[in-house]
Amino acid sequence: MRQKKEINHYKYGKWYGKPYHFFGDYLYHKYNAKILKLTINANLGCPNRDGTIGSSGCIFCSEGSASPTAAGSLSIHKQMQAAIDGFNRGLYTPKYIAYFQAFTNTYATADVLKKLYDSAIAFGNVVGLMIGTRPDCLPDDILDVIAGYKKNNFELWLEIGMQSMHDRSLQFLQRGHTHAHTVSAINRARERGIPVCVHIILGIPNESWYDMMSTAIEISRLPVQGVKIHHLHVIKGTPLEVLYNKGQVPLLSCKQYVSYTCDFIERLRGDIIIHRLLGDQPKDMLIAPAWGLHKGTVLKAIEDELLRRGTFQGFLCDSY
Ligand code: SF4
Repeated sequence: MRQKKEINHYKYGKWYGKPYHFFGDYLYHKYNAKILKLTINANLGCPNRDGTIGSSGCIFCSEGSASPTAAGSLSIHKQMQAAIDGFNRGLYTPKYIAYFQAFTNTYATADVLKKLYDSAIAFGNVVGLMIGTRPDCLPDDILDVIAGYKKNNFELWLEIGMQSMHDRSLQFLQRGHTHAHTVSAINRARERGIPVCVHIILGIPNESWYDMMSTAIEISRLPVQGVKIHHLHVIKGTPLEVLYNKGQVPLLSCKQYVSYTCDFIERLRGDIIIHRLLGDQPKDMLIAPAWGLHKGTVLKAIEDELLRRGTFQGFLCDSY
């Protein structure tokens, strides 16, 4: 039986009117400006594609969707300018976060990485650096480099692909690492004071509701500051597409995803910032589920469901 918590933070505006701590709101109020993420492909490759760990990549990852090759051939500053031009907003002077997103952005020597990160933050109006990577590609010398970017009023985030706390799910996803790698990477990053955001996937085949909620509880137990929640979706040209076409990959309905995501949010610590609540995919690359293209509708359904339940982030978290 649910015990309602006495303090209902969202009613008091702690999360700017939302029943969860949303990254966009957090950024806007911290910097008093719209912050745009400029995605960068540093062409660093991935050990799960080049044969070091695996050669076919994670089951859900498409080489094309993870890395637009045209973008990857441009200099970092040209990619950042192209991203700004793509926003086509022109209404104010936004601030930017340099986002090393494509592939494994710690898969090089510490010296090479430092030059790349330095170049990105030298671009005008950059107030942050985000680095996406695998948990088994974070040796101590590279974490030391990343920790060097910690400073006041600078948005530093290390994004780690956790996906699930269950090793059998990581095996299904062909991740090539275990949950122990994730725990080690998070702990060593936090020893250096680096803010960590973990990526997780809901709807992995053979994960029960309890399995998914165990991952939420595990994230709340770990010293992380952010989470990106994605629905399992099938992209063209991936190993997952092959399984899906054989009828071996049941996908969540929108209703299930909304319900599970709310259950997940209720179990997340209240201080964790939710960076994303739905996977993003290019329309022309998506095989299924089609509902994932209606991002606004899904996000509204999640918020409406929490409001209907009268619950909020951390409602069922002991370490709230
Ligand atoms: S999801 Fe990341 S780790 Fe997996 S194959 Fe793609 S780039 Fe590599």
